[in-house]
Amino acid sequence: PDCTSVFCCIFKNLQKMPECFLVSEDDAHKPIQLHHQQPVILGRCPETKIKDKKCSREQVELWADCNKGFIIIKQWMMLYCIHLKHFYNQVSVTPGQRLHMVNQLYPYTVKFTEDQISSPMQTANLSNSRSKPSKRALSASQMNYYSSNTSKAASNMSLEEREQLRSQSNTAETPCGSPPSKKMVVPSADKPDSGGHWSQGLKVSMQDPKMQMYKDDKVVVIKDKYPKARHHWLVLPWSSISSLKVLCSEHVELLKHMQLVGQQMVQGCLDRHTLRFRMGYHAIPSMSHIHLHVISQDFDSPCLKNKKHWNSFTTDYFIESQDLIAMLEQDGKVSVKEGASEFLKLPLRCHVCKKEQPTIPKLKDHLKTHLSS
Ligand code: AMP
Ligand code: ZN
Repeated sequence: PDCTSVFCCIFKNLQKMPECFLVSEDDAHKPIQLHHQQPVILGRCPETKIKDKKCSREQVELWADCNKGFIIIKQWMMLYCIHLKHFYNQVSVTPGQRLHMVNQLYPYTVKFTEDQISSPMQTANLSNSRSKPSKRALSASQMNYYSSNTSKAASNMSLEEREQLRSQSNTAETPCGSPPSKKMVVPSADKPDSGGHWSQGLKVSMQDPKMQMYKDDKVVVIKDKYPKARHHWLVLPWSSISSLKVLCSEHVELLKHMQLVGQQMVQGCLDRHTLRFRMGYHAIPSMSHIHLHVISQDFDSPCLKNKKHWNSFTTDYFIESQDLIAMLEQDGKVSVKEGASEFLKLPLRCHVCKKEQPTIPKLKDHLKTHLSS
């Protein structure tokens, strides 16, 4: 073989993805391999040899990203209400953490084989020791997730804090309310996800375990990537429903479930006693795939940048979930008021005291007065 093909062959081999293993620190069983991006459910099961009744059969769900070298641990929680059986606590595991399957029992370490390498030279050296676990072993505390960044146990954290812990998404934004390309005339949009049209971004996010806060067989809840308030989530159905226009009476049950899940998200929020929440749909959504906005009414967010943002949540452009459901029950379809886009051009008016504000910065200053009172 000529030089080029030998090099290609070596290079291909060296590009192999690191492997991830869950290793019992008690040496109770052989390491369990966590395959790249394939969820593994563990608990009281033959693989772990745990027989302790304190440990449920489906104690944790582990999801490894072998390329990036981290795992996500989801712990199913019977929280808040029977409707949300599958509400889970989820964190990304970063180096220096330890996982206990139950409280302080059954310690585990997550190990990756050597990291993915960027240059062929480095790859060649490291690939020799591929089977050897990397020194950069990861471990996590489950039940109590102790992070190296924070000494606080995650079980004491609010949902939001847990989210922040695991959130690795970037926060750059093209403002919702202004199109990514100035030439496009659309009501609103945010930064596109790489690959694919920006308007399809929710479909990407809803499938991303890092974005998911809750899921069941019908819906998934994700954190809005460009939140317009302290708490801003989107509830999306798994079934592909492109827009409000295609809704019919058959969807009523699903929409009611979406609303119920939204309410439970609010119940799970530590700020629920101090902040008001609203749930609804934009009359003319910019993003494909119907989504219910669940948003706190502080509007205290750097992502809220312009009049369209403001008016889309504080005028009749925002259709309350219950109104939409009532409309669907009554008429069998959703009719959006003609000229709904005109709502976006209305003057900036405080949603609490209705006082008009000249500019967004002035409005933001004004909103603070309501927050502190
Ligand atoms: P709308 O379509 O106007 O009802 O709103 C779409 C919402 O999706 C906005 O609040 C955006 O901030 C949010 N958003 C845009 N792109 C993404 C994304 N890729 N992942 C999650 N949320 C997004
Ligand atoms: Zn006011």
